[in-house]
Amino acid sequence: MIRFNVPPYTGKEMEYIRQAVDNMHICGDGEFTKRCSAYLEKITGTAKCLLTTSCTHALEMAALLCDIKEGDEVILPSYTFVSTADAFVLRGAVPVFVDIRPDTMNIDENLIEAAITERTKAIVVVHYAGVACEMDKIMEIAGKYHLRVVEDAAQAVMCTYKGKPLGTFGDFGCFSFHETKNFSMGEGGALLIRDEKYIEEAEIIREKGTDRSKYYRGQVDKYRWMNYGSSYLPSDMNAAYLYSQFEVADQINEARVARWNQYYRLLKPLQDAGKITLPVVPEECEHNGHMFYMKTKDLRERTELIRFMEEKGILAVSHYVPLHSAPAGLKFGRFHGEDHYTTAESERLLRLPMFYQLTEEQTDYIADRVKEFYGA
Ligand SMILES: *Cc1c(COP(=O)(O)O)cnc(C)c1O
Repeated sequence: MIRFNVPPYTGKEMEYIRQAVDNMHICGDGEFTKRCSAYLEKITGTAKCLLTTSCTHALEMAALLCDIKEGDEVILPSYTFVSTADAFVLRGAVPVFVDIRPDTMNIDENLIEAAITERTKAIVVVHYAGVACEMDKIMEIAGKYHLRVVEDAAQAVMCTYKGKPLGTFGDFGCFSFHETKNFSMGEGGALLIRDEKYIEEAEIIREKGTDRSKYYRGQVDKYRWMNYGSSYLPSDMNAAYLYSQFEVADQINEARVARWNQYYRLLKPLQDAGKITLPVVPEECEHNGHMFYMKTKDLRERTELIRFMEEKGILAVSHYVPLHSAPAGLKFGRFHGEDHYTTAESERLLRLPMFYQLTEEQTDYIADRVKEFYGA
């Protein structure tokens, strides 16, 4: 059976976890956490990166830092993971969903402005499959209406828009290091902070509302309760696992992009024959091979293809059920405008196996089976 995902593994993980244990520093903000944050600050050029226990928690921190309050509205796509909305709903915000573009499956930047009301506080964008949203337009709208921008860049580590790293456009960027992502620590994430003025508050929120981060740096001689907060810092053992992958990050990225390009090349004839639709990567976007998806004619064909692939020993899977039609989405949010593409496109989308250890031969085999299904 070819699995849909295999967590990334490079070989150094156990050695580094052992080092964390030998350092006798297994709680948060040890040596490996520092190395991981420094690495992310280096590759993104952001003012500050704080490692977190998940991308969901990084989004929760962003919602707190945006000062989201009961009744505020946030604009976001409905085609996304629950956390994008949940982090803001937890603060009492109303998620206002707008439609996506069918080419990239990202929020349609041209529909955002019409969804803005007096209560709108933030725009939350999701860079689906590591392909950037139209950030120029989105930042322009945010500037015009004085809105905060949060980037759910869970899938977009090492991706760029016009050469600039994703996660660094908005006020806050959120990465995920869940085992399904390109770089992993089991469960984990990171918050990228663009403006220095938020760093101190973010450190306090992450450390149970205390200034312990300052205390550790020797800047204060005791730490105290300063503000509201929670516990958003991961164990250094998890950071050790992640760091081993950052050491070979380019290799991981290149391997995934190579498999992505291989899928694309092999399946292109099916698209040319009008049988399937392949993902679109706009010229100004550089992606990281996080996900390879294709679209079938409709839901029924997708169900048949999933079954066919399973019979051939391949796990191919669908993706998000649009949030606005899910029970919590109906309860907490609303959809602004018409759902032209969100539901229809989500029902056609199928993800093929994609992970660091996926081989060229396996990719050939998978693409051949898709072709076989379409009689090509
Ligand atoms: C994976 C993912 C998340 C959640 O990440 P966790 O680290 O599991 O909290 C949020 N948003 C998107 C778009 C994701 O793909």
